[in-house]
Amino acid sequence: MATNELDKRFELAIKLIKGVISGSGNLKSQFRNDLNKAVSEFNVIFNKQKGDLIKLKSEMSLPTPSYAHVASTIPKENNIPQATHVVFIKSKDAKTSEETKSTIKRTINPSKIGVGVKKMKNLSNGGVMIETTTKQGSEKLVEAINNTLSNQVEASLAKKFNPRLIIYNIPVEITEQNVVQTIIEQNQILHSETNCKEHITIKYMFINKKTNTRNIIIEVSPTIRRLIKQQNHLKMVWSICRVDDYVSILKCFKCCKFGHKSADCRGNQVCPICSGNHEIKDCSVSINQHNCANCSNHNLYIKEGGRKYNTKHTTMSRDCESFKTYKKMKESQINYE
Ligand SMILES: [Zn+2]
Ligand SMILES: [Zn+2]
Ligand SMILES: [Zn+2]
Repeated sequence: MATNELDKRFELAIKLIKGVISGSGNLKSQFRNDLNKAVSEFNVIFNKQKGDLIKLKSEMSLPTPSYAHVASTIPKENNIPQATHVVFIKSKDAKTSEETKSTIKRTINPSKIGVGVKKMKNLSNGGVMIETTTKQGSEKLVEAINNTLSNQVEASLAKKFNPRLIIYNIPVEITEQNVVQTIIEQNQILHSETNCKEHITIKYMFINKKTNTRNIIIEVSPTIRRLIKQQNHLKMVWSICRVDDYVSILKCFKCCKFGHKSADCRGNQVCPICSGNHEIKDCSVSINQHNCANCSNHNLYIKEGGRKYNTKHTTMSRDCESFKTYKKMKESQINYE
């Protein structure tokens, strides 16, 4: 049964008992007190069990305990955002972002060198970021800036990471030692990439106890990804295994923020259900008091006229706007070309 359905039924049952208590006018006050005490006890127990369950579920869906901080997310092919093309500019003589920006604007004319600029933004470290419309545009811009302003600034292309793929239900006889070999030997399609062995690295493996198979996350070159995505599966001994894109997202179990794990956390304990200052197992709020700490935090910092996020969910929700925004940002750093 879905958690929401259970929540509703539980709340309805509590409401019924409460109705009986308040409807029994001549109920002895001792009985009334005992019944009220029992109701609040039920509430606490129910929420504690729910908290334990959610925590257990989130731990179970993760690869291995040592990667307990990694929440996986698998973008569908048509959900993969357009590749972004970003140039970073650093000042060589400790100028501010604003000064660097005006130097570039004064010296470089994007339309003259045929570069389409989408966005220009100051960075908190004193640098400037420019997003262009094409990869060639970014390359041209880097060249133009470094040629004309080499004594003042340094421009470089944003670093992109290699894509990751998840291979499902690999037979257990395929081990970490022979998995790459098996992929290459049995899948001719990959041989058009020279030295394809060097372009496949295993990141994690985890056992699916129900099916007695393994799921494996590999990191590959953009070319290998493209070749595999042409068929969306790999032949592995006697099986044909489904393959999907995979994006790793770090989320802290202590403060609920993205981008670091709890061992490196410098924040306070934040409850993923209600955003209170306690652990999930001590949470005792009901479903209509769910409050996402990340979306609430976003709302604190949006500029006037900016869009506020809905906060009535837990930080584990896949509908969370903060999660979706972070995921999009991570995807934009992956080389999907
Ligand atoms: Zn943290
Ligand atoms: Zn809480
Ligand atoms: Zn949220």
